[in-house]
Amino acid sequence: LDLGASSSLQAWVERLVERARRRLGQGRVADYIPALADQPADRLGIALCTRDGRLYSAGDAEEPFSIQSLSKVLLLSLALRSHGDALWQRVGLNPSGMPFNSLMQLETEHGKPRNPFINAGAIVVTDHLVGAYATPVKHLQDIARRLSGNPSVLIDREVLASEWRHRARNAAAAYLMQAFGNLHNEVDQVLEAYFASCALRMSCRDLARAFHYLAAEGRSPTTGEAFIPPAMAQRINALMFTSGMYDAAGDFAYRVGLPAKSGVGGGIVAIVPGELSICVWSPALDASGNSVAGQYALELIAEELGQLRRGR
Ligand code: GLN
Repeated sequence: LDLGASSSLQAWVERLVERARRRLGQGRVADYIPALADQPADRLGIALCTRDGRLYSAGDAEEPFSIQSLSKVLLLSLALRSHGDALWQRVGLNPSGMPFNSLMQLETEHGKPRNPFINAGAIVVTDHLVGAYATPVKHLQDIARRLSGNPSVLIDREVLASEWRHRARNAAAAYLMQAFGNLHNEVDQVLEAYFASCALRMSCRDLARAFHYLAAEGRSPTTGEAFIPPAMAQRINALMFTSGMYDAAGDFAYRVGLPAKSGVGGGIVAIVPGELSICVWSPALDASGNSVAGQYALELIAEELGQLRRGR
């Protein structure tokens, strides 16, 4: 795919922000915790990272935001790295068709979450990491810093405290899984590590760079190292394609057709395998918890990449 010269890529990203701004004003900022409810709804940022590790960005792409469920991809990458396919005995591989915090299937499916990108699944993945690392949160923060190349990536203490105070649903999921024997460490310790991962603050630029390993067969352009093996990157992309956008994964696949993961902070990371990692951010969400303007920006990007591929 010939994406053209740097100057035209930069102009492209700027034009995309202008067009996607038309969707600002639709949707609602997440309000399940007070710390996210004051996010400014008028923000919109886009960043792209190309194969050579170069970044192109426009709009509010430098403003750090709460990555929320985007952390589920990092948690999964780390757990697969340390445990390999054994993880799949405890977490499934199929879309849930349910909201990300639903408890219904957990009871009928004996404490085994449908996939690693709903809350219950990510809590099991975090349980793996709590068992594997003495300081899992610090480890995750270090990885986020290394992959993004930004040493000032931080965990937002206010968001973390707010998640903790309003933990009832996630705690219910964790205790239910413990009752089924699918949670091996202390519930409080696992929840705290899970919330800390959601409370990481990163910008579109940080995230486009940090997630580029999924577009580059597992190799990070920032560290120059293989973060995960190529086959693992391919599988994580497959899971993002089927489950990364919660119960709207099918709609999104039809409209955009790229592996992607969203978070209730308004961020979405999308991957064009072999080519690009993209991060869009705009805090107002639709009913499934996906950024309205962010999804629209990705639709525009997918449409234009399709035209480019077909030679216009
Ligand atoms: N911290 C959020 C939660 O656990 C993450 C959910 C999300 O981004 N979808 O509810």
